[in-house]
Amino acid sequence: MPAPSTSFPAWLTQWLHVQNIVHWGAADLRGFSTPRDAAGREFPGAISWVVPVNPRVMAQVQHGPTQAYAAEYDRVNLQINELAERLAAVLRDRGFQAQPLAASVRSDPVNIRGDFPHKTAATRAGLGWIGRHCQLVTFKWGSWVRLGTVFTDLDLPTGRPVQRSFCGRCRRCVEACPAGALTGARWSPDLPRENILDVRACDHWKKENYRQYHEGHVCGICSAVCPFGLKLLKKSAGTGG
Ligand code: SF4
Ligand code: SF4
Repeated sequence: MPAPSTSFPAWLTQWLHVQNIVHWGAADLRGFSTPRDAAGREFPGAISWVVPVNPRVMAQVQHGPTQAYAAEYDRVNLQINELAERLAAVLRDRGFQAQPLAASVRSDPVNIRGDFPHKTAATRAGLGWIGRHCQLVTFKWGSWVRLGTVFTDLDLPTGRPVQRSFCGRCRRCVEACPAGALTGARWSPDLPRENILDVRACDHWKKENYRQYHEGHVCGICSAVCPFGLKLLKKSAGTGG
């Protein structure tokens, strides 16, 4: 068996740099059930990245979504999907298997899931942990981000998977959730989603109360109240950024 790769190819880092993707990594997904490549094999890994959401827009979602948030959600998802398609094409041109994972697509509406959790790839790539609100939290932008993933068989140095929560004693998202959908459980990699989030209660609340925004697909309150994001807002206000 060849030795695992110890450095990223320059063409890949250069490509990501040109796209202004600054927080990214590679995830070892062996042992996870991923979508399958053209030959019917599961992917051994993925490239995972985050795109920050406008912090001023996020900060206004403390009590419910806004039109600006719905528009920002669309803008960033579109950007991620375009990048993912292009990155997969670049990988395929170089002879590797690659498949983008679409942003915010529920391929399993019964269980309210997509093909694979972006956040699992992100924690495996070392980009952050899962907060009590069941979303990725990065050290740099908190959870005020959206995630991109491209599965590939390109051998890359994988990040150190994040194995624990850094939420500490904070429970702000749990207390702010109007649907009572968050259990308050502290995340660890083996904890099933159901132990953290009652996804049906969340979905029902959104459809009942925010149907005017993407037919009840967005909310954002639990992310907006997270101190890791609010810190970012204070920082950008301090720098005039
Ligand atoms: S998205 Fe809204 S309803 Fe769902 S868990 Fe977060 S705060 Fe609660
Ligand atoms: S609001 Fe607090 S508990 Fe919730 S994800 Fe952020 S740090 Fe964790």
